[in-house]
Amino acid sequence: MKTIKLEIKGMTCPSCSASVNRLIEQLDGIRHKEVNHVTDNARIEFDENLISQEAIIAKINEGHYKVVGQEDVVNEVVVPSCPTCGKKGSLVPNTIFRSMLKPEVSGLIIAGKEHFICLNPACNTAYYNQDIRIDKAKLRREIWYKKGTKRNIICYCNNIDREQIKDAVQHHGLETWEDITSHYRKKVIEKCELLNPTGHCCRSTFDKVVQKFKSKN
Ligand SMILES: [Zn+2]
Repeated sequence: MKTIKLEIKGMTCPSCSASVNRLIEQLDGIRHKEVNHVTDNARIEFDENLISQEAIIAKINEGHYKVVGQEDVVNEVVVPSCPTCGKKGSLVPNTIFRSMLKPEVSGLIIAGKEHFICLNPACNTAYYNQDIRIDKAKLRREIWYKKGTKRNIICYCNNIDREQIKDAVQHHGLETWEDITSHYRKKVIEKCELLNPTGHCCRSTFDKVVQKFKSKN
């Protein structure tokens, strides 16, 4: 299932939203829809195995209406694309900003508002929302996947980087997050929601790095 929000031009009255509704109804795989002529928006939940987003948009465009914008709705939060590069971002918990931001930009974060991370390695923007944009140069710790990063930290909780994982795998035969973190740290911590730049656990990335160095053995 996927939920999208479409911006539709040309709907001026309730009978317009009713005709858009009728167009969408003709399609298979639509699970839920709300069309609103006041906000020019349609919110549609659909089964991606039965119908594509493109087919839904093409159907709406058959009428007197035109889809001029589309956004994915994730966990009821509309994830806007990065204002710098236009690429897709991801929602981050506000708890990470204490460890991630230099003091001069920490005032930009507003409690209760949503903030997003730009996932594009080539883009200099780290965090953003509709009102703000924070450059990666304003971070206290680098984001591992951004281009030009000096030290590729993978586990932010225990401050372990790619080179350390490489050494643990190739010279000590270690493979798991548990073994590698405790190889370097007496006291291993797990506070991803506070310390990881994405707010998510590093383990899947960590495992990929381990696999990469294992296969080079
Ligand atoms: Zn970007």
